[in-house]
Amino acid sequence: MAVSTPASGDSNLPVPTFARPQLDVVGRAEAFHVRRIYCVGRNYLEHIREMGEADERSLPFFFQKPSDAVVPDGKVPYPPMTDDYQFEMELVVAIGRGGFNLDIDEALDVVFGYAVGLDMTRRDRQRESFRNGLPWEIGKSFDFSAPCGPIHPVEKVGHVLSGPLLLTLNGKPQQQSTLEKMIWSVPEILVQLSKIYRLMPGDLIFTGTPEGVSAVVPKDLIVATIAGLAPLAVQIVPPEQ
Ligand code: MN
Repeated sequence: MAVSTPASGDSNLPVPTFARPQLDVVGRAEAFHVRRIYCVGRNYLEHIREMGEADERSLPFFFQKPSDAVVPDGKVPYPPMTDDYQFEMELVVAIGRGGFNLDIDEALDVVFGYAVGLDMTRRDRQRESFRNGLPWEIGKSFDFSAPCGPIHPVEKVGHVLSGPLLLTLNGKPQQQSTLEKMIWSVPEILVQLSKIYRLMPGDLIFTGTPEGVSAVVPKDLIVATIAGLAPLAVQIVPPEQ
């Protein structure tokens, strides 16, 4: 058993306060404060095929991770409750303006910037959820499950809608694709997601992964690159005690 109490700066509070999760913004001193993390399931055909559990013609869908699953510093502890811990590299869209029921031609106006992210997954637990018709939380939504690189503002890099993605594991190419292979484009994702939720500044959207996902173990080094964005380097470290 391990019980810990984080230090609090204000002893009048009933429980200690906590800082909002933050990501660096390239070219600015001020951080991006994370509100919600949305993720797109099934957005590249070859990944649907390698998973082998979905109808290729079914619509993409959304799930969420807790905002404090964001990992900006590149060290990711191997999580509990899995023997098949996998990476999924994804383009991340950072929201800068609110939007609800967006039209396709205005959808990109809510985007603040773009980053490289990893949708870390307990694949064994996710497959159990598939088989048993249960929610995906145990497979997808847990501590340290959303490593994300610095955010590049649209004003600096434009909209990142095309170009290559590459993930290397210990230096060997593992995921290689292009953003053009997304089944649903970034504007289409924004239109669909904004029908379900009111998008707000600080939201992140992980836009789905191409084929080549694989398991990792402690000491593995993942480097994910999308053309025009800073690479994301993540080292898997031993489990937290
Ligand atoms: Mn994913």
